[in-house]
Amino acid sequence: MSQPPALKRPRVALDEDAERKVLLDHPTLYYDDGNVILSSGSTLFRAHKSILSKHSPVLRVLFDRREDTKTETLRGCLHVALDDTKEEVEALLNVIYDGFRIDFPELTVVTFPVLANIFRMATKYRIGRARADILERIKEEWPFDLAKHDEKQNAKTQAALRRKQEQQEQQRQAMAGAPGALGGAQLDAAILLEQEELAVPPAAVITLLRDGGCADKEILAPLFYALSCSTWQLALGALGHRISQLPHADIERFITGLEHVRSAFASLAVASPPLNALQPHQGWESCQNGMLRFRQSSMLSLLLVEHAATARRPLEALNAVVALVRQPGHLATYGICAACANQVLADLSRRRSDLWNQMPTHFGLV
Ligand SMILES: [Zn+2]
Repeated sequence: MSQPPALKRPRVALDEDAERKVLLDHPTLYYDDGNVILSSGSTLFRAHKSILSKHSPVLRVLFDRREDTKTETLRGCLHVALDDTKEEVEALLNVIYDGFRIDFPELTVVTFPVLANIFRMATKYRIGRARADILERIKEEWPFDLAKHDEKQNAKTQAALRRKQEQQEQQRQAMAGAPGALGGAQLDAAILLEQEELAVPPAAVITLLRDGGCADKEILAPLFYALSCSTWQLALGALGHRISQLPHADIERFITGLEHVRSAFASLAVASPPLNALQPHQGWESCQNGMLRFRQSSMLSLLLVEHAATARRPLEALNAVVALVRQPGHLATYGICAACANQVLADLSRRRSDLWNQMPTHFGLV
């Protein structure tokens, strides 16, 4: 033997020693019969090459290349050090080994990071099915379909109402009949804030999607709208609704879009329902006058400063007006006949859904 083996042996022993000190097997994602070790920092994941290769074309290529060059081995396995975080590798392997079941009954600030990790890894390692599942879940949470959007909002309002009742009850018990420290309005604001703090910040979702190369207007538009409804801040603030994390082009889209949505809503409120929404009939002056009074009290009032918080959510503000119009006999109190009341309802509903359908255009997503 020409080369001295003595130099090599102590190094191996040292490596093994060092390895024992710093490397940690992942508690659940270390399969003893695995034949590939993936590492993130000091955490080792041991998995099955064939399974990973089957689901990720990127990993397959990576393994093949390493096999050819026979570069690194660890504990007799092919070793690939990944530049992903431990949580990201966990997400990747869980998705692969759990058969792609991505089940998030409730998407909150607590569960979102897991979903984000899966999405990033599914995109990077091209696990198409997992990526599609996440996009579906996001669409479900921020639907483009207006009826589904309304359903979501109603559920949130119901939850806020229940929470309010609970708090009032707790307060009543605590104060034993003394007047509450929080007035009704303050209580509402507190509940809304609480709801917002638990909700996933739309800006975080937009950033995640953009990083993953998503430009689907039907996914992005409801998120931009949700962002415009929330208490967003440019940079500072503890709410997590910061828009500074968005890509520059999206910050611009958002600010410009906000202007567009507000002015579209203002034009709508000033002119709706229009008089020509009514079919002429005998005595329709009464219906016309009634409609002007109704517009004054329901639509124009939305533009007053004291209703600024309501007008920040134009779709929801309009939904409240539509609900009023739907109430049997409500428009009759303005002297509007039943036939005209139906036309008003149809007109308002149509304008509302037009406003929603224009969101991708308003936010420059088309
Ligand atoms: Zn009429």
